[in-house]
Amino acid sequence: MDGKLKICMVSPELSPFAKVGGLGDCVASLSKFIAKLGHEVKIILPKYSSIALPTNVIEHLQPLIINMGYDIEYGKIWEIKEKNLSTYFIEFDRYFKRDGIYSDLHRDYGDNYERFAFLARAAIDLCYHLEWIPHVIHGHDWTTGLIPVMLDTIERQRSMGRCGFLFTIHNLQHHGYAPKSILDFLGIPHHVFRADGVEAFSQVNMMKAGLYFASKLTTVSETYSREIQTPEFGFGLDPVLKFRAGDLIGIRNGIDEHLWSPETDSLLPAKFSIKNMEGKAICKKKLQKYCNFSIHKNIPLLGVISRLYEQKGLDVFANILPNLLKNSPLQVVLLGNGDRDLEFRFTQIAKEYHKRCFVHIGFQEALSHLIEAGSDFFLMPSRFEPCGLNQMYSMRYGTLPIARATGGLVDTIENFSEKEKTGTGFLFQDLADSALYNSIHLACSLYRDHPEIIGAMRRRAMERDFSWSTSAKQYVAVYNWAKKY
Ligand code: ADP
Repeated sequence: MDGKLKICMVSPELSPFAKVGGLGDCVASLSKFIAKLGHEVKIILPKYSSIALPTNVIEHLQPLIINMGYDIEYGKIWEIKEKNLSTYFIEFDRYFKRDGIYSDLHRDYGDNYERFAFLARAAIDLCYHLEWIPHVIHGHDWTTGLIPVMLDTIERQRSMGRCGFLFTIHNLQHHGYAPKSILDFLGIPHHVFRADGVEAFSQVNMMKAGLYFASKLTTVSETYSREIQTPEFGFGLDPVLKFRAGDLIGIRNGIDEHLWSPETDSLLPAKFSIKNMEGKAICKKKLQKYCNFSIHKNIPLLGVISRLYEQKGLDVFANILPNLLKNSPLQVVLLGNGDRDLEFRFTQIAKEYHKRCFVHIGFQEALSHLIEAGSDFFLMPSRFEPCGLNQMYSMRYGTLPIARATGGLVDTIENFSEKEKTGTGFLFQDLADSALYNSIHLACSLYRDHPEIIGAMRRRAMERDFSWSTSAKQYVAVYNWAKKY
């Protein structure tokens, strides 16, 4: 193929091997799609202990030499090969022989900046090991932010200095602060330690480093690419993003339509499609049964699947949930984990209202599919949402999202119009108890009084194209924009 690109993805997460949120899904499905377009993709991630490698994995006998600033380290490489796509797992006990990706249970590992700085160096050295110089290294979030700094300094006169670097911001909230000594750890000269470089508050800010040194920047929706240039959403980095605005574009994440389609989803008790929705009723029944709810097709069922952190706005949902359950006949199922306080609040509410509220604290792939398919509505009251995947999954499954009008939620959900009786979901502006309450109340009233409107909105939602086809082509255009040779 003419114009065939060599793309190296570096990521801390990759579905289904290591996933905390949408980042793992995005890297996996985007890589597959780019490979399908005929480009050569290699993905590099750590081999965490929790990863069970499949039987077709290839063990590299030659060790990986990793050129740290202080000395040489040796890692082990495992590879899974598919057409145009190889995945490399780097085994290195000191940093990756742990079950968690960033944390164990509720405690972040204190040396995350060092672990991912190490991954950054190991990724560059793996390219040398493979004698493969990518056109573009595509790094995801702060964990990869020091790669372009190395490409621009220690690698500048070497072959890897020819690589372009595309930096995708999935979530600007996490910066990855490291002591200045991280520069020596990687052998990076100190002249980059300045305010218009990697320095912030006398430390190294790995996100900021990526923002300054990347060839090009993307974020995962158009609205979020504009929001992060404002103080409200910029987490202090909005001036940097404004400075680099000419190199920044938003590309909406796609979804893996093979894994997330009601027509093929093997994790569902029944499949369904826009032409035949009987399977959705079976999924709802199964979900009600699973939650020990009364089995009733006319009670609206509201699903939530989320990391339980401030970003997701579910503290506001916890404020109104008891009243909501008291005043309306709705059923609620929540799957999530994270903040201990929130876990506790939801668990208590579920205890009190166990007939109509079910809470599962934990991470469960199969249950998440059943919730997407079996619910009538899906809740995402996010404070900010770079893209969000769940609202797209839910629309594919005819489950209407109720969401705050922010970031990717605005770009993917068409708000219900009272006048036109159109829309694919319900958007509300302010993250306040009343606004959230009213939005859920509106959805439930329509469900009860105007099922024909809900039916039409469902069909509209299911017809939406959330595949990667458009977005992957935009990425190819950006790779061509970012590449240097
Ligand atoms: P974020 O990346 O901010 O967490 P997204 O909506 O982009 O939010 O992606 C979240 C992904 O993680 C979805 O695939 C969602 O289903 C999944 N997920 C989140 N929490 C859980 C959980 N507790 N169990 C199963 N899947 C979860």
